[in-house]
Amino acid sequence: MTKILIMALSLIMAACSTRATAKPDNNDETNVDKTPSRLIALSFDDGPNDITTPKVLDILEEFNVPGSFFVIGQNINESTAKQMTRAISLGCEIQNHSLTHVQMSKLTKEQTAEEIRRTDELIEQYTGTRPWLFRPPYIDHNSLMHETISHTFICGVGCEDWVPSVSAQARYDALISTVKDGDIILLHDFIGNDNTVEALRMLIPELKRQGFTFVTVSELFKAKGVTPSAHSGKLYSNVLQ
Ligand SMILES: [Zn+2]
Repeated sequence: MTKILIMALSLIMAACSTRATAKPDNNDETNVDKTPSRLIALSFDDGPNDITTPKVLDILEEFNVPGSFFVIGQNINESTAKQMTRAISLGCEIQNHSLTHVQMSKLTKEQTAEEIRRTDELIEQYTGTRPWLFRPPYIDHNSLMHETISHTFICGVGCEDWVPSVSAQARYDALISTVKDGDIILLHDFIGNDNTVEALRMLIPELKRQGFTFVTVSELFKAKGVTPSAHSGKLYSNVLQ
């Protein structure tokens, strides 16, 4: 009787200790912080080009994270298109940032429609994907644009990374102190913007360490179950706003 009791007890203890050791292992794998709800998207404006866009892509590839590239139609040619197709092969997406990077609130309805249509066509011609997101140049927008353009308007959380005197460290500091779940980070891959390339090298591993998972802006909307309606007049910096 006592023997049976001891056997039963030791079996229970063995089961408990298995659970006790299994649990930390499991937690280690998922890294405690990595709650799947903490999602974030990196986005880049003003490409594509053959100098700085590939540097950004190298970093995204190195850390195995995607990005969303809001490209200027007039920057697309046979050569720079290769950056877009490489981006797509890395799990990135290409979206619309106008044809000529003009202040679009000063355009007519026809000119506005043309800025979007021609850029969409160029992106589709080279990548086979059709943009559904639009970032207005200079975040300059008005009701005519919202009425004319069917794309969802995107802004983002920035760090003045278009200002040459803002150092890589300052860019990193500005972002790391503010970003939260659902944010769209707004950066630029225009030619020579190496401080942003450097800031990314610090930012991506630190956000990963904090438990953020990187997705494209499209994936961010989908993962959060947000379906933006066209012509809503909204400008998203966080998909949950
Ligand atoms: Zn821009």
